[in-house]
Amino acid sequence: MNQEVKVVAEPRREIPVAAECDVLVAGGGPAGFGAALAASRTGADTLLIERNGVLGGASTSVLMNAWNCPAEGMTGVAKEVTGKLLETGDAFAGPLVNFDPEALLDLEMEMLLAAGARLLLYTWVAEPLIEAGRVRGAIIQSKSGRQAILAKTVVDTTGDADLAFAAGCPTVKGREEDNKMRPVNTMFRMAGIDIEQLLAYCRERPDQYQQDPSSHMAGAGATVIRPATRTCCASSAVASSRGSSSGVTPCFDCSPLTLTSR
Ligand SMILES: Cc1cc2nc3c(=O)[nH]c(=O)nc-3n(C[C@H](O)[C@H](O)[C@H](O)COP(=O)(O)OP(=O)(O)OC[C@H]3O[C@@H](n4cnc5c(N)ncnc54)[C@H](O)[C@@H]3O)c2cc1C
Repeated sequence: MNQEVKVVAEPRREIPVAAECDVLVAGGGPAGFGAALAASRTGADTLLIERNGVLGGASTSVLMNAWNCPAEGMTGVAKEVTGKLLETGDAFAGPLVNFDPEALLDLEMEMLLAAGARLLLYTWVAEPLIEAGRVRGAIIQSKSGRQAILAKTVVDTTGDADLAFAAGCPTVKGREEDNKMRPVNTMFRMAGIDIEQLLAYCRERPDQYQQDPSSHMAGAGATVIRPATRTCCASSAVASSRGSSSGVTPCFDCSPLTLTSR
């Protein structure tokens, strides 16, 4: 059934130019952080705009807590960030790297500000500003209202290609053959868990729980069932061995067995 969509005409108005920059980075997830860091380190006047109050995108605000790659396989910004988290004991390395998202968001903020980038948080990048067929900036929306940013180069790292799509660039959503996307999953944290008892419970019920089929990536020393990194390893005897980038020995609470509910 075709339902007619009601429309209204948005009044034409002039809006203030809030800032001008060399490089505007839209979205402060892992991609935006890397782009803004690299741009500002080359000396470009860089402005990163993020709709949330923190950097890191899904890696911090979704509580994603592992990079599915061994530390020695990393290069560039990812290697630098991982090295710093290992140094402070906020990550431990194995076949993958587990990290504390809270520490990551602080670290990314410090690194960007140290590189001289400017940040605008709690601000939506609403639309591209297009002039002579080129994206010359963006219209933003925040508590300060609607404003414009002028930039020589605009990098869309919104994770959803918001700007690229609105600018008319060809984009792909989901799988190319049918546009279907991965099912949503939910990350959460629990505290005060008796891990040993939990693992025993799961092992006794193979009909309800199974080893994660991707645990070949995780292997020994990594798990998705564990308390926060800070409370777990910091309180145990392995605390003294933390800080080594050669791989920290996880305490029992960080130990193997990746379980997923069937
Ligand atoms: C639940 C979940 C679990 C995951 N687990 C893992 C894992 O264990 N290991 C792993 O390696 N990867 C994992 N991933 C994938 C990983 O998080 C993503 O690949 C990665 O975050 C993508 O980075 P990105 O910078 O492209 O986008 P995002 O992380 O999505 O960052 C985009 C940023 O742009 C901001 N933004 C979006 N639109 C606008 C706008 N219009 N204006 C201003 N800001 C905007 C968002 O707020 C966000 O901060 C997981 C993802 C999810 C969702």
